Amino acid sequence: MNNMGLEEYKGVFIYAQQVDNELSSIAFELIGKAKELAKDLGTDVTAVLLGSNVKGLTDELGEYGADKVIVVDNPELETYRTEPYAQALAAVINEYKPEIMLVGATAIGRDLGPTVSARVATGLTADCTKLEIGDFPINAVPGKEDEQKHNQLLMTRPAFGGNTIATIACPDNRPQMATVRPGVMQKLPKEAGRKAEVIEFNPTLEKNNRYVDILNVVKAVGNVENIMDAKVLVSGGRGVGSKENFKMLQDLADVFGGMVSCSRAAVENGWLAQDYQVGQTGKTVRPQIYFAIGISGAIQHVAGMEESDLIIAINKDEDAPIFSVADYGIVGDLNKIVPALTEALKAEMK
Ligand code: FAD
Repeated sequence: MNNMGLEEYKGVFIYAQQVDNELSSIAFELIGKAKELAKDLGTDVTAVLLGSNVKGLTDELGEYGADKVIVVDNPELETYRTEPYAQALAAVINEYKPEIMLVGATAIGRDLGPTVSARVATGLTADCTKLEIGDFPINAVPGKEDEQKHNQLLMTRPAFGGNTIATIACPDNRPQMATVRPGVMQKLPKEAGRKAEVIEFNPTLEKNNRYVDILNVVKAVGNVENIMDAKVLVSGGRGVGSKENFKMLQDLADVFGGMVSCSRAAVENGWLAQDYQVGQTGKTVRPQIYFAIGISGAIQHVAGMEESDLIIAINKDEDAPIFSVADYGIVGDLNKIVPALTEALKAEMK
């Protein structure tokens, strides 16, 4: 694609992921962010819904803020497969020419986003944690003032194992594509009865040699509970010392009806499953209360929890970095503090 056609591309589009005809939370989070971007650009937000018998989901997308919903409803799209989904999303982009296309960095989105960006010959920034509209300098020549390209999507993501933060733009191609980490952007409150304009689009999906046939779907018996939904998280790290000691953290979580989560060190020690890991290679959480217990506060851990409303850290090392993001810090041995705190809270809540 050349520069000439860039201005033809308008609007902020999001991929409204559904699985088993249920919209994923990321769809609403992306709409929330897209609304902000669209406001800055003076445009509107379109959700792209792909699936089979999914028309019933359009109302919910409208209620969460989508101005338009483009639906591709086709039996070929019943279960996620790369080829028909990539064909459908690429067809939507080629037909409706969005300026920005956001996809969740879920297992599906990490497959779909890059496949589609290659097909529509544009760039994609993966696993973004921040998106904003701004100026981007181009043709940087030493000693000469930079020329700025205005109204670009600035896509920010951790790089080099979380040791640096990179902001990336895509000034010469459209759409500007990003995958976005689940749990980072905030959904808007649901506005009952708010309607989106629904556009039905039926591109031809061509069976080719990249098509796979699904013979059988075997669902993993996953954890039904998700730490991203918990209002209170009691998170433990290497300092907790053993799997058995996590019982102490569960007791504290139970006082609030909360959940236990952990650092990567706890997963590596086999104390909790990876589903419970918070951080850059785990989940991004923003509970009302986050207890960080025996967690040092490495940058990769903090990246996943720093947006929590209230952070309470318990650590025997008063210089532990976790204290710099904590609202309250308790210095001491967690083996004494956690049971005492649990008892005190139980007494208080009686
Ligand atoms: P430690 O750093 O060992 O800290 C243990 C803490 O417990 C110490 O501060 C210690 O003072 C305290 N302590 C010990 N005993 C007690 C006691 N009795 N009472 C009170 N305090 C006590 N980490 C994540 O968590 N999530 C991620 O998603 C993640 N992704 C990563 C991605 C990459 C590419 C890399 C390179 C690393 C990643 N890490 C991640 C690992 C991260 O760098 C840290 O190694 C990890 O977070 C450390 O876990 P921790 O805080 O539990 O352990």
